[in-house]
Amino acid sequence: MPDSLAARCEILAGYTIVSIDGQPVNDILDLMFYTQKDTISVDYLDQTLTPHTIEIVNDFDRPLGFEVDLADCTQCINHCIFCFIDQMPPDLRPSLYVKDDDFIYSFIYGNFISLTNLSQADIKKIISQHISPLYVSIHTTDPALHQQIFRYDIDFDIVDALKTLTDADIEIHAQIVLIPGINDQAALFKTLTDLVEIEQISSIAIVPVGLTKYRTALATLRKFTQAEAVELISHVEFMKANRQIAHIYLADEFFILARLPIPEEHYYESWDQIENGVGMVRKSWINWKTIKKKYIRFLNTMQGNPTFVTSMSGIQAINPILKDIQKNLPHKSIKAVVIHNHFFGEDVTVTGLLTWEDIKNQLTLADDEYPVFSSAIFNGELRTIDNVHLDAIEDYLGRKAIITDELFAVDA
Ligand code: SF4
Repeated sequence: MPDSLAARCEILAGYTIVSIDGQPVNDILDLMFYTQKDTISVDYLDQTLTPHTIEIVNDFDRPLGFEVDLADCTQCINHCIFCFIDQMPPDLRPSLYVKDDDFIYSFIYGNFISLTNLSQADIKKIISQHISPLYVSIHTTDPALHQQIFRYDIDFDIVDALKTLTDADIEIHAQIVLIPGINDQAALFKTLTDLVEIEQISSIAIVPVGLTKYRTALATLRKFTQAEAVELISHVEFMKANRQIAHIYLADEFFILARLPIPEEHYYESWDQIENGVGMVRKSWINWKTIKKKYIRFLNTMQGNPTFVTSMSGIQAINPILKDIQKNLPHKSIKAVVIHNHFFGEDVTVTGLLTWEDIKNQLTLADDEYPVFSSAIFNGELRTIDNVHLDAIEDYLGRKAIITDELFAVDA
């Protein structure tokens, strides 16, 4: 990084860091771990592969300045009965087909891992470098059911694996992907009972299984019904109240399916699993209050009327916001178009899995309307899940589009 300590010491982009204080640097975690000292001795190779050693005195107010391209991630060894990647059609963005199961990605990006592919060396590294927190898919604590869900060919016990890590004080954020008739009901309550005993498991998210229409040759699974969602919410709330525990959270989708109110802010505590669809609706409403004035002012400066492009689940979150905008901009017509997911199947209701193909086929705009897309529809390069760039979308529509943060965390 320019102006960093490393740049001042003339360590340039493209050089290879070999070791720090004699400790080999194999990955970004080694780099993060070994550089946490006042003074470090860095062995590196320049672009001609000439070795150098330099001492750097850390100034913790200024970045050290090493930026690392993450290596390819470790792939998973499981064949989960509900694996979303096995249910995807061809020709989407290549990165969507990667079955990553890598503790480094879990620590850095919050990706969920299964622990089934950890070697003894990995466990030693996690413990010795205190790689914490980790995000772990558990689904069940019953060993036979765990194997039946994950379908691995090794001896593995999830409770033993969790104990090894948590005994070493590694914090865990757990998720249970809930599949009706498989790991719900009594199996779920046994899992929750086991998990709440482990102090270092600081959040447990229960999220519904995602099913696409591409499930030929895969296990027959079904989605939850409204009645099951109501029952689940009531049972989980009863257990939480009874045991005075707060850190079990149900995904927004369950409340939407049950047609029950979204929990209040205090339900979500630290919002640890928001990326997992736990609390996104409530957070959007909270954020909206903060950005409302600026956002409405911005829409007021725009020519024409906004049409918000959303999904079956997304409309639940944005409906109150749209009503508020309409109230404040009575001279504008504030519309929402709910796009049905024909690409993955109607059971996929989240905005982040809408394709341009479906949007294109279902969105009609009057001459005075412009689209407002959720940022969830695009990746960091402004491409949709079916790999269409925002520029191409604007060209097709013949007008500019607005992208709004999916949590209304920043103004348009
Ligand atoms: S752990 Fe299971 S769900 Fe995740 S990528 Fe592997 S097979 Fe798929």
